Amino acid sequence: MPIQKVKKIWMNGEFVDWDDANVHILTHALHYGSGVFEGIRCYKTADGPAVFRHREHMERLHNSAKIYQMEIPYSVEELMDATKELIRENGLEECYIRPIAYRGYGEMGLNPMNVPIDVAIAVWPWGAYLGDEGIKNGIRTMISSFQRISPKSLPPFAKCTGTYVNSILSKLESLHAGCDEAIVLDYRGFISEGPGENLFMIKSGKIFTPPEHASILVGITRDTAITIARDLGYDVVETDITRGQLYLADELFFTGTAAEITPIREVDDIEIEKPWPITKAIQEKFYAAIKGKDQNYKDWLDYI
Ligand code: PMP
Repeated sequence: MPIQKVKKIWMNGEFVDWDDANVHILTHALHYGSGVFEGIRCYKTADGPAVFRHREHMERLHNSAKIYQMEIPYSVEELMDATKELIRENGLEECYIRPIAYRGYGEMGLNPMNVPIDVAIAVWPWGAYLGDEGIKNGIRTMISSFQRISPKSLPPFAKCTGTYVNSILSKLESLHAGCDEAIVLDYRGFISEGPGENLFMIKSGKIFTPPEHASILVGITRDTAITIARDLGYDVVETDITRGQLYLADELFFTGTAAEITPIREVDDIEIEKPWPITKAIQEKFYAAIKGKDQNYKDWLDYI
């Protein structure tokens, strides 16, 4: 799906015309993957557009930057203000938000210390990442032959641009195999996550999800789903999960800002039979929360 162009992009404190929001070919991050970024969503609600879990995302951006020894010259608060201003400037009611902080133009080579840190925020309309049909009827997945990055080589908690070449390989492999998405194992062989989603498994009325030590990106939608599930009275256990357990699961779903809550209907050609009642119950509360229809979760919304 081509990116839907809007008017302005925020770059280093300025609102720049969309077509002028460019970088130099010798930008450090383009060569070495030395950027950190976020994916956030703004939803249309009865009280106007609202950014979902805005602060948590900007804090994670700052944490990712800290891991890679990058000083972001804007506070969490300043980034939140810039984002809201940008959504207003573009007149959007609902959009995806992509903040990025990256090592820019200055020097080449692996010593990044003298390379300036640039920061940009883009917003544009972007629908369901794994499709509306996927959200309703589930998607087909396979276990990838590519492992998720190991904490011995790259910190999985950091949402770093370079890390995503690993995700792209598993995504391509799954698409070539006729699936919608991959599931990746961690360096020990336990289930980690999707290329851009966290994974949940339901078995005998209990909910399981891989723990932080399974090389996951600690997702904000993962936290949202855990909170909602516990509020609904379900036990949620963070524990190592094996491939075979997925085959015998009652329900499986992915969570992510882009993917929201997407059920999984197949793993390695093995069907996870409908009707997935617990997934549907969590989905229902999630969609109410993001649309501002559930007062219990109003603190998750930052109104424009
Ligand atoms: N894992 C990976 C690798 C991701 O890229 C994402 C998307 N940011 C997630 C999980 C889900 O995280 P979140 O719910 O915070 O979007």
